[in-house]
Amino acid sequence: MRTLFTDIKELVLTEADNALSNVLKGTEMDAIETLSNAWLLLEDGLIHAFGSMDTMPELQAHETYNLNGSYVLPTYIDSHTHLVFSHYREQEFEDRIHGLTYEEIAQRGGGILNSARRMQEITEEELFKLSKEKLEAVIASGTGGLEIKSGYGLNTQAELKMLRVIQRLKEQAPIPIKASFLAAHTYPLEFRENHEGYLNLIIQEMLPLIAQEKLADYMDVFCERGFFSAEETDRLLEAGYKYGLKPKIHANQLYNSGGVQVGVKHNAISVDHLETMDEEEVACLKNSNTIATLLPGAAFFLAMHYQPARKLIDAGLPVALASDYNPGSCPSYNMNFIQTLACSQMKMTPKEALSASTLNGAAALELQTCLGSIQKGKIANLMITKPMPSLAFLAYAFGEQVIDQVWIKGKRIR
Ligand SMILES: [Zn+2]
Repeated sequence: MRTLFTDIKELVLTEADNALSNVLKGTEMDAIETLSNAWLLLEDGLIHAFGSMDTMPELQAHETYNLNGSYVLPTYIDSHTHLVFSHYREQEFEDRIHGLTYEEIAQRGGGILNSARRMQEITEEELFKLSKEKLEAVIASGTGGLEIKSGYGLNTQAELKMLRVIQRLKEQAPIPIKASFLAAHTYPLEFRENHEGYLNLIIQEMLPLIAQEKLADYMDVFCERGFFSAEETDRLLEAGYKYGLKPKIHANQLYNSGGVQVGVKHNAISVDHLETMDEEEVACLKNSNTIATLLPGAAFFLAMHYQPARKLIDAGLPVALASDYNPGSCPSYNMNFIQTLACSQMKMTPKEALSASTLNGAAALELQTCLGSIQKGKIANLMITKPMPSLAFLAYAFGEQVIDQVWIKGKRIR
């Protein structure tokens, strides 16, 4: 099956055949290639060829679309979500309006513990059905690669239930999905005073079972004051590594928790959140291959300060953007809104925001060789915009449905 698009206003984030798709660092993020007045040929779900309309050869295709005025971009790759959950938590949203903080809500058994209670009650079948519906909406919004975490189970049975649901989504979804094991999301009530007991449960009981069923790709820990200390995180990452799970961790959301340092020590694929960063953390990342993943949707929704994107990019680091889609701190998977937040609140340029959400998102899931840019042989997961005046319009026109079509594996799904 061959599909040809002609008269594309701009084909965005193109890479030459022989280019190595690497994570984009510092100034590279704003220097991505685009091709004006372009054509693009897909074949059997993959990107087959592209070029300028001025030099278009004679091409055979089963279907041809003239995209006069539209932009074609690689889909977003959302490298940090908690998509598998049973209930939204809008009651806590109201509690915060009335003055409670996120930490106070957590201390009263709300927050993650609230989701965990619901997770322990729901059947695997029902959870799968809900999650599949969410996933379909996520893909239709323009996301063509995804990470999903466990972490609302907080006991062996419920963590396995979540991971099995993610496994089924992986098998059935048209897009690549990676799973992260996050039992170390918070301490369950019964282990509040017995951290050792919960660490042992994760390390000695959960990890071997998960490894046996091959249910996770990555090991995640919420490294934060009041949650898991840097020392506890260190032990958990060490244990995960023994079972082949590379780290991707929550770090430095509320405090300088040592999360960045412990992540880098274990060669984490990414450290995510990073609202609270000093020179020491930046220097630590500079001496590593770890990607800094920023989640401005959570900072927006919790009305907290934003991540220092400029400081990280100006230091030459690779930055990724993700939604953090979850029922507590970011009930939205809309990566287009993340573009707006990145530009308006963190002063990223529209091209930097796009690099961070496509190729760098793919790199944060080790998918950069098959997704994240327009390159021959990559999976044809694409977004086609409505006619728009410039690329910046995508981040600028927030709330408007600028993305007109979504194509996954060379097929139009929206
Ligand atoms: Zn998260």
